[in-house]
Amino acid sequence: MTEITRKNGYVYLIGAGPGDPGLITVRGRQCLELADVVLYDYLANDRLLAHARPDAELIYAGKVGGAHNREQAQINELLVSLALGGRVVARLKGGDPFVFGRGGEECEALVTAGIPFEIVPGVTAGIGAAAYAGIPLTHRNVTTSVAFVTGHEHPDKDTSEIDWDRLSLGSGTVVFYMGVKNLPQITANLMAHGRRPETPVALVRWGTRPEQQVLTGTLADIAESARKAGFKAPAITVVGEVVRLREKLRWFDNRPLFGKGMLVTRAADQAGEYSTMLEDLGASVWECPTIRIVPPEDPTDLDRAIGELHAFAWVVFTSYNAVQAFFARLHELGRDSRALGPCRICAVGPRTAAALAPYGIRADLVPASYKAEGVVAAFRELNPVGERILYPKADRARDVIPAGLAALGAEVSDPVAYCNVLPDAVPAGVIQALEERRIHCATFTSSSTVDNLARLLGENRFLHLLEGVAIAAIGPITARTCRELGLDVSIEPEEYTLAAMTREIVRYFSVTS
Ligand code: SAH
Repeated sequence: MTEITRKNGYVYLIGAGPGDPGLITVRGRQCLELADVVLYDYLANDRLLAHARPDAELIYAGKVGGAHNREQAQINELLVSLALGGRVVARLKGGDPFVFGRGGEECEALVTAGIPFEIVPGVTAGIGAAAYAGIPLTHRNVTTSVAFVTGHEHPDKDTSEIDWDRLSLGSGTVVFYMGVKNLPQITANLMAHGRRPETPVALVRWGTRPEQQVLTGTLADIAESARKAGFKAPAITVVGEVVRLREKLRWFDNRPLFGKGMLVTRAADQAGEYSTMLEDLGASVWECPTIRIVPPEDPTDLDRAIGELHAFAWVVFTSYNAVQAFFARLHELGRDSRALGPCRICAVGPRTAAALAPYGIRADLVPASYKAEGVVAAFRELNPVGERILYPKADRARDVIPAGLAALGAEVSDPVAYCNVLPDAVPAGVIQALEERRIHCATFTSSSTVDNLARLLGENRFLHLLEGVAIAAIGPITARTCRELGLDVSIEPEEYTLAAMTREIVRYFSVTS
């Protein structure tokens, strides 16, 4: 397919997968990236919309609680009219478009209107949700067949199109879609047609998502347990002996931070790495960048220091940002790492040291303590009397390093290399998640992240929104800032690294929940 030449109306009918945004296919994502318009459903994770072009029109075509014919007809018409208007449409549907998705009907409408289309299959909920619940739908030693069945039609014997006789005994595993409401009738029918009452059953709600809920039982008792638990759609119902394997194969909803909402407040370009770390442990992450790093308004001091780099014995980098800012300016001035010549390099913390690697630099000194005081202590042993030391710093850096090094007899230059400024606002999704109490832990990796969040929200709202949220602070200074602003800090690692803070978060939640 040559998308480049696609000038006339065209429709991609795309399976969005069951919820985890990683479960869309490569082709599905490509098509989404191309579209002029995206028409998406309730069950398609709206995080996938981030793959759409920034100028693409996004239209919600969701139907909560069942597809009504009239609404379906309207969607068909809309698809046709968008394509006839010459637009490339991505029709994004939950799971697979051809499995209980009414994709067949949408396609028929396109054929009738003479509109070209492509179908991109997706991971259907029956497969995706079962996998994330640790239930293999078939298993060599357990069952050799699986059936996907709609649980939506009223399973009353006289009018049902489902052949309960054959279904009950003909397929080892039976997966019902849209079956939560009719669960009492479904289970009764299966038993009435010969399925043993002890047959295990699992309900998987919002499968593959951080909200995934699984309820297990037997044909005899699951309907009652679901009623008692207030178990709601959307869920698949898996019936069959394979459900027993979940106990052994469960892997997703038992991860240490599963079901926990985490707030990551780092600068946008640094948040991703930390978010992934938390997500790998099962957490749902909301990113709320509280810092924007910008170059200093007046780079004169930095430029002067860069001009005389050869005269410095040491350059001290105390953060990832300092490294990026310094080298960005060096490059802007038309120079590269060679300008550092014989300078020795001190990097505070392993991440800072790692940030130097792409520039071909290996740190000579990585102090054991990540605090400014630790840096001074490390230099004391080197006795830097009379040596020139360059410390490219943040606009609001504390004075401990330059004062401490000067006290050791060094000649220190500390030009501002970057500034921390306040972003425009807290993303609306973050506020909503805080209001709905879906965030259980807020992580702060520096004093400015706390300060800035309070400034962005206003102090009262800040305290109100963080009420009951566990506060994690990377080190004592950050923790002090939290306390000064009225927060209780519950998570404080001994070592001031993201990895150590994450370990403490896991420990905290394993004790409290
Ligand atoms: N085309 C979709 C199914 C649409 S019918 C697919 O292939 O998955 C809607 C039903 O799908 C819901 O009632 C529910 O039974 C199921 N479903 C969709 N997403 C789900 C999810 N994340 N977890 C559990 N069930 C889901």
